Amino acid sequence: MKHVDEYRDPARAKEIAREIAQLAERIGRTPERPLLIMEVCGGHTHSIFRYGIQQLLPESVQFVHGPGCPVCVLPMGRVDDCVALAERRDVIFTTFGDAMRVPGSKKSLLKAKADGADVRMVYSPLDALQLARDNPDREVVFFGLGFETTMPSTAMTVMQAKAEGLRNFSLFCNHITIIPTVKAILDSPGMELDGFLGPGHVSMVIGQAPYEFIAHHYGRPLVVAGFEPLDVLQSVYMVLRQIAEGRSEIENQYGRIVPRDGNAQALRAIQEVFELREFFEWRGLGSIDHSGVRIRAEYADFDAERKFPIPNLKIADPKACQCGEVLKGAIRPRDCKVFGTACTPEMPLGSLMVSSEGACAAYYQYARFETRASHDTAEAGA
Ligand code: SF4
Repeated sequence: MKHVDEYRDPARAKEIAREIAQLAERIGRTPERPLLIMEVCGGHTHSIFRYGIQQLLPESVQFVHGPGCPVCVLPMGRVDDCVALAERRDVIFTTFGDAMRVPGSKKSLLKAKADGADVRMVYSPLDALQLARDNPDREVVFFGLGFETTMPSTAMTVMQAKAEGLRNFSLFCNHITIIPTVKAILDSPGMELDGFLGPGHVSMVIGQAPYEFIAHHYGRPLVVAGFEPLDVLQSVYMVLRQIAEGRSEIENQYGRIVPRDGNAQALRAIQEVFELREFFEWRGLGSIDHSGVRIRAEYADFDAERKFPIPNLKIADPKACQCGEVLKGAIRPRDCKVFGTACTPEMPLGSLMVSSEGACAAYYQYARFETRASHDTAEAGA
């Protein structure tokens, strides 16, 4: 296929959905004991809601929304650290736009900006580097956030800053890694996932090999998936086909983008600049060993955590917030007590309502009025 509408062909989507229903029947699961497929990546969560993919599937196949939205898993204490840095008079704090509205314990970066802090939205870490060149009398801090997908561009920016000898650029590093987190989810008591849709963008960097333990140690199939509706449906079909055939392997549906061994140049840049932290705090999931990276000593001059005092406080989420349970797939967004009332995209209480990749924001945008009847109608149409 060459054109995007071919990946959205309704007739082909219904055909694959029928094949999925046949496989589910062959596997013998029921609506009471459905097959649970976790889509690790927030991009998939967004596609599933946007294109109504869950409604195309039989009730015996259910998606569980995973932790793969880096904005959503940022703990409140780290947001407070960002605000503390941004409110320094000598600092220009730069960030991607989706992190601006994540609530901290007192305020978001957007509120800090409204209160007078110099917070600027950038589209690339290189924009932040340019700001540093243009403002030699100010300290420019870039808020590095994201999984392995965004790590290489941050790493290369730090390498460039070092090569140019820039003294007023630093990184507040909040990059996280996906593999330890999937392992922590698999080890959670009561977790009964049957298979995974693997994150397409992360896999483009890390390749397929890091997932092998999921198939071999935990006996669960994982299919690296693309983001168009037919990509997601085909990947679900591939997971179910493995289950039906008694296999658990790592397969790649997104071969047009994801090379088997990842991107060697990107991996080299990550390796050059970053090293694993002993642990990193995740919103709702707690502390997970080796799930984040920090800047290596060779690049210490560009580490905002060494350059500035950081409060580094652990702040508990508001009591009403159930982001952690949603992130672990224990409840659906609509089951959170404050969904759509005290927590909306306009006034988010939890971070899953902020980013477009957050499960609660996707649910709010595309499925908040969904009823059992509309689900049945969609299925009948398929
Ligand atoms: S509705 Fe809001 S508070 Fe509840 S889980 Fe979603 S983001 Fe968190």
